[in-house]
Amino acid sequence: MEKRIIYADHSATTAVSDEVLQAMLPYFKEHYGNPSSIYSIGRENERAIIDARMRIANCLGADPKEIFFTAGGSESDNWAIKGVADKLAAKGKKHIITSVFEHHAVLHTCEFLEKHGFEVTYLPVSPDGLIDPQQVADAIREDTALVTIMYANNEIGTIQPIAEIGAICKAKGVLFHTDAVQAVGNVEIGVKAQNIDLLSLSGHKFHAPKGIGALYIRKGVTLPNLVHGGGQESGKRAGTENVPGIIGLAKAIELATANIPAKTAKLTPLRDKLIDGILKIQDTRLNGSREHRLPGSVNISFVGIEGESLLLMLDHYGIMASSGSACTSGSLDPSHVLLSLGLSHEVAHGSLRLSFGEEFTEADADYILAVLPEIVERLRAMSPMWETIQKEGIHFNEDKTKLVK
Ligand SMILES: *Cc1c(COP(=O)(O)O)cnc(C)c1O
Repeated sequence: MEKRIIYADHSATTAVSDEVLQAMLPYFKEHYGNPSSIYSIGRENERAIIDARMRIANCLGADPKEIFFTAGGSESDNWAIKGVADKLAAKGKKHIITSVFEHHAVLHTCEFLEKHGFEVTYLPVSPDGLIDPQQVADAIREDTALVTIMYANNEIGTIQPIAEIGAICKAKGVLFHTDAVQAVGNVEIGVKAQNIDLLSLSGHKFHAPKGIGALYIRKGVTLPNLVHGGGQESGKRAGTENVPGIIGLAKAIELATANIPAKTAKLTPLRDKLIDGILKIQDTRLNGSREHRLPGSVNISFVGIEGESLLLMLDHYGIMASSGSACTSGSLDPSHVLLSLGLSHEVAHGSLRLSFGEEFTEADADYILAVLPEIVERLRAMSPMWETIQKEGIHFNEDKTKLVK
């Protein structure tokens, strides 16, 4: 079989697209002016930023004044959560609700706040990776400052009932933040219709460059300044604007949100074909709901092998994928997301995430399905764990979360 090169790690990052790059290029040289300057190349860039802010707002159903540029998803998450915490602590509200399987940009921010006198409720998720809105409602207290629940999970691709959670928060008068980094461009988002008060997004997950993102802050919500200095971003995040990045972000979000139904219709059958094909390999399990799932996201555990060895073999065959999330693959601890589904360490260790975008084809899916069973077989043949499993008749329990005798 002819070797193919397949980038199946879109949840980690994406390449800057040609259209986005072309839109950005003039802003590195000809249009280099500081948007705060008075002469024409400065004023032109100020206008370009106003235009970009408006286009980004349109894609989210927001007002341009509600869009604040940041350096990406992690910064937006930090600003939203610490900002609300700081603001509402003064009113005696020192309780935050989140979930156990958030991105570390949210979880570690919450842990930081716990060290500073805040109380955090970490909601569990269902075995198929969904958050129950009723549990959110039940967790809200008199002193709750913020609910922060991710829109779509970066490891298992599950999409949360965001509008329902938003409605609950609104009814109870609690602010609602969502980390929508994985959702933008995959799911139709309307911040007003979904009662979202704060939303984080990051350009590099949808073909804009790394290091540019935004935080939507609903009008009426005032956060403390993130960076003190000049008057940029309404004085809330000072520093000369990343003009090329902002232009690229606007172009990329327009392209990403323009044809979500078509993209979903193209990718969902390919995703399902991959899932069904991979699950034919014995002793495998799908992680995360099949139904409430990003169209380009697959996560499967293989009994008896290590995710890392699987990634190295796949790389040899030209397939770039991930095991857990890129941030945790440097460590030996299994992913907190997979553990949150109730998986034992053995089952979580042998996991594979394939996440792909619009350029993914049927031929790519066929290639993966052709090489993967062979790779798994070879790795299992070399695995002492697999040998023990076979010899001692160890097998999956009923819900395939653990291995039992
Ligand atoms: C990638 C990612 C982030 C971090 O975004 P950066 O722009 O890399 O800081 C945060 N949350 C989720 C869900 C992500 O997938």
